[in-house]
Amino acid sequence: MLSFLGRGSAFANEHNCAYFTVGKDLVLLDCPMSAFFKLKKRDLSVYENIYILVTHTHGDHSGGVAMLVDYCFFVSHVKVTVVAPSDEVFADLLYLLSKIEGCDDSWYTLVQASDLQKDWLVQAIPTSHTKELDGKCFGYQLKIGEKNVIYTGDTSTLTPFAKYLDSGSVLYTEVSSVNSPVHLFAEEIKETISGLTGQGVEVYLMHIDDEDKIVNIMKGSGAKLAPLQEEVSMDEQGKLLNNIFDITDSLYKDMCMNDRKDHALLFSYLTELAKTLVDADRASFWKWDKRKCELWTMSATGVDRIVIPDSAGLVGKSLRNKKTVITNDPYSDPDFNREVDLKTGYVTKSVLVLPVADINGNFIGALQLLNKNSEKGFDETEDTKKLSLAALVCGIALESETFLEESHHDKLTGLKNRMGFYFDFSGKYKEYLLPDSGKTMSVFICDIDKFKRVNDTYGHNAGDDVLAFTSHLIESTCTEKDCVYRWGGEEFVMVMRDTDLEEAAQKAENVRVKLMESDIDADGTIIRCTLSFGCALFDPKKTIEENISVADGRLYIAKETGRNRVCKEDRA
Ligand code: GH3
Ligand code: MG
Ligand code: MG
Repeated sequence: MLSFLGRGSAFANEHNCAYFTVGKDLVLLDCPMSAFFKLKKRDLSVYENIYILVTHTHGDHSGGVAMLVDYCFFVSHVKVTVVAPSDEVFADLLYLLSKIEGCDDSWYTLVQASDLQKDWLVQAIPTSHTKELDGKCFGYQLKIGEKNVIYTGDTSTLTPFAKYLDSGSVLYTEVSSVNSPVHLFAEEIKETISGLTGQGVEVYLMHIDDEDKIVNIMKGSGAKLAPLQEEVSMDEQGKLLNNIFDITDSLYKDMCMNDRKDHALLFSYLTELAKTLVDADRASFWKWDKRKCELWTMSATGVDRIVIPDSAGLVGKSLRNKKTVITNDPYSDPDFNREVDLKTGYVTKSVLVLPVADINGNFIGALQLLNKNSEKGFDETEDTKKLSLAALVCGIALESETFLEESHHDKLTGLKNRMGFYFDFSGKYKEYLLPDSGKTMSVFICDIDKFKRVNDTYGHNAGDDVLAFTSHLIESTCTEKDCVYRWGGEEFVMVMRDTDLEEAAQKAENVRVKLMESDIDADGTIIRCTLSFGCALFDPKKTIEENISVADGRLYIAKETGRNRVCKEDRA
């Protein structure tokens, strides 16, 4: 929501100043001199407008206003609009800007909050602070994104704000470790704050005079310190850009010679890129299998591949709700799944999940980032902006991977099809195709005997059941060196690496006997089926098609000589 350039009170080193961005506009809540010095280090010319919402005229809130107006006019060339919460404060600011600081009125616009028509500004809320500024101290109600945000400014009471705070609201409240009539004394306000967080209000503490004391007093109240925006020096920005370019350069080069012919390489680079972009400790990319209601890690730093139900955890929540999910206090988030932490001892401190869409805008996966290297955790606006391009490429890559997977598989049996077969020959079997590799590979092709009769007698659905049963049975005999493909109709091919002809024939025999002895539920009727096999030792000097032909010729012999048998030799 809000970021802070400072969260200190008048006598601290840095003074309270919050900001947020809306499109090309920067909105500041107060502008002390210490904030001006920090703003000056940034490139303000990227903004179209800068708005300063003034809460009251104490120097630690308004001392930098005229300097910023000055600087933006002469250096950044950005229009500054100073927003006064009431006509009295308006008059004071006019005096300050024109009489004390001597700003030409063409350099800035001074408006009253009630006259500023902006979606993000709901209203200024009068409150009380020092006696001397009676009637001239205000907080603000804002709407940032879809959130209702209350910023108290300096205040001695929460009462004027209470009626605007419901569950889901965000409250930025001042708090003091000193018991004085002009500020909220932490020890007194703690119970009220606990009550608010208990009702689902997010509470952030600001305008702090002694951070250690405040943290100590407020322990258990559910309130957090207002998130400080760390200064990023130009040097660090340059280094970051270089790191990003290094990753994208390696990604480009590796993809150009990707002989693994899969998307894993792309996903691992993209998650590494995402991690670097937002300075997170870990990143993972998840695929959403909507049919199985499962989430799969496609690539992850620090953990092995994981499959989890989509009903649990923050990735599932983000995908179900089609929204970015951020939590900077995961252990108190009921949706956070602690299992990985419990298993590995990792301590998750902050999480950002960004759902990614396919080309039609359907969410199909998500990027998850853990533990941003920053005290304030992830920032929705800033970090999602940084991740946007990586997320977009992840979405397109995942869609392309899914298409490729589907085109290589047969829907009925779940086995790889002929496209998958050729794909594997251009990838994982490549080394077996070299004539001098010294490697052995065998194949068998098998065909269900008299299968047409199954269809004719029991119907097409029964035939489908037999195909599914048979394919699973064959697949269940595969070791990690074997792979079975649906070659077409009721024909299957098994490729067996590091397997000679005798062993291949033995495997075929094993499948033959197993199927012969199986009762198959064919659309409600129990039937039995048999298979005939042709086996061949893969000859790298022949083409793939010629090799399959050899096996096919032997299958033909098996059929001719009575079916339900394995043939591994040509006719004598
Ligand atoms: P043989 O022992 O000589 O192999 O006899 P067969 O009846 O098995 O051989 P044929 O080639 O005459 O018949 C194969 C049948 O397989 C014909 C075709 O309709 C059926 N078939 C092919 N694909 C499918 C499918 O996906 N589902 C179903 N139910 N039947 C299929
Ligand atoms: Mg057949
Ligand atoms: Mg056939």
